[in-house]
Amino acid sequence: METGVSLLSKLPGTGTTIFSVMSALAAECGAVNLAQGFPDFNCPDRLMDLVNQYMRKGMNQYAPMPGVPELRKRIAEKTKNLYGAEYDWQSEITVVGGATLGLFCAISAVVRENDEVIVIEPAYDSYIPAITLNGGKPVFSKLKYPTFQINWQEIKKLINFKTRAIIINSPHNPTGMVMGTDDMLQLEKLTEDTDIVVISDEVYEHILFDGQAHQSVCRFPSLASRSFIISSFGKTYHTTGWKLGYVIAPEKLSVEFRKIYQFVAFSTSTPVQYAYADFLEDELHYLTLPQFYQAKRDLFRELVKPSRFKLLDCSGSYFQLLGYEKIGNEQDYDMAVKLTREQGIASVPVSVFYHDKTDNHVLRFCFAKSENTLKQAAQILCNL
Ligand code: PMP
Ligand code: GLN
Repeated sequence: METGVSLLSKLPGTGTTIFSVMSALAAECGAVNLAQGFPDFNCPDRLMDLVNQYMRKGMNQYAPMPGVPELRKRIAEKTKNLYGAEYDWQSEITVVGGATLGLFCAISAVVRENDEVIVIEPAYDSYIPAITLNGGKPVFSKLKYPTFQINWQEIKKLINFKTRAIIINSPHNPTGMVMGTDDMLQLEKLTEDTDIVVISDEVYEHILFDGQAHQSVCRFPSLASRSFIISSFGKTYHTTGWKLGYVIAPEKLSVEFRKIYQFVAFSTSTPVQYAYADFLEDELHYLTLPQFYQAKRDLFRELVKPSRFKLLDCSGSYFQLLGYEKIGNEQDYDMAVKLTREQGIASVPVSVFYHDKTDNHVLRFCFAKSENTLKQAAQILCNL
C-alpha cells in the first residue's frame, strides 16, 4: 500500500537482521539451518507439562510487572549459589520478555543524547540500534583476530568523560570467546571511580566448556554495583521461542530500568514464569548443560576436521566459527548465501557483527542441533 506520509528513518543504515534473512533463505532452499541460533531439539517434557498445568490452573492473566515472586526468588537463590552475589528479589530482579527486550530497556535506561557507549566487536546485532535510538554514540574496540581476546589497552584509550556505558558479552556470540578472571579484573580497574555502567549480556552463562567457570560480573562486587546482568531462559532450557529472560541490577539501576520496561511490555507470560520457577528447583539441568553442549561442540569439530575449513577456538556459547580461505575468496556474506543456495547449508557471515563489515572470511555455525543434523551438515562441509 502506498503512503503519502514522509518519514525520516530513525535507523537509516539498518536492514533486516541477519537471523531473519538467513532463516528465510534456509527455508526457501530447504537447507540445513546452522545459521540462526536455536536448538532443533525439544525442551524437557516436564517443563512443557508445567506450563500446561499452570495454564489449566488459571494462571493466564497479567503477571506482576517485575515478574512472579516465586520465579524472582528462585533467580535470587540461583545467583547467590552460583556466583555468591546477593540481590533483593523484590527490587533488583526483573523478569522480562527475552534478553533482547532486557538489553533494549537497560540501554534506554542509561544512554542519553551524545553519550558514548563502548561496544566490543564483533557484537550481537541488537546493541547498536538500541544505542542509536537513544541518541547515543557507539564507539568500537575489536576483539583481536583470531583469538578474539579483548584489547583492554585500546578500551582504556576509548574511555573519556562522555563514556556512559560498556557492553560486554561472555560467553560471546558469535566468536565463542569466554572472558576470564583477568578480563573481569581489567574491567573492574578501568571502571573504578567512574560513572560507567556495565551492561553484561550473560545469556550463555551455562554454556562454557573444558571445566571453565562463568565469570559473571556479579562475582566482582565493584562491577556488580555498576552492572545490569541480562540472561535468557531460552538458551538454558532450549526454549528460544518462549522469549523469557531476566535482568539483575542494583536497586537504583533497576528502578530506572522498570520505569521503561513497564511501558514497553509491562509484564510477560504468567504460566511460563510459574513453570520456570518450579523447574529451576532442579539444578541438574543447568549444571549439566556444559557437558551437554560440549559433547555437541566436540562432535561437530571432529566431524568437520577432515574438511578444508579452518576451525577457530570455541570456549563457550553454541557457535563454531569456520574460516573458508581454502575454499573461496568471496565476501563472507556472499559465501554464506552461496553455500545455502548451492550446497544446502546455512550459516551466518561474521562481518555483519562489525559496524565496518570487517571480513576475515569466517562463517558462524550453530551446533545446538541433534546428532543427525550435525552429521548432515558436516557431510556437506567436508565435500567442499
Ligand atoms: N544476546 C545474545 C548474545 C544472544 O545471542 C541472544 C540471542 N539469542 C540474545 C541476546 C537475545 O536473547 P533472547 O532470545 O532471550 O531475546
Ligand atoms: N541469538 C540468536 C543468534 O545469534 C538469534 C536471535 C534472533 O534471531 N534474534 O543466532
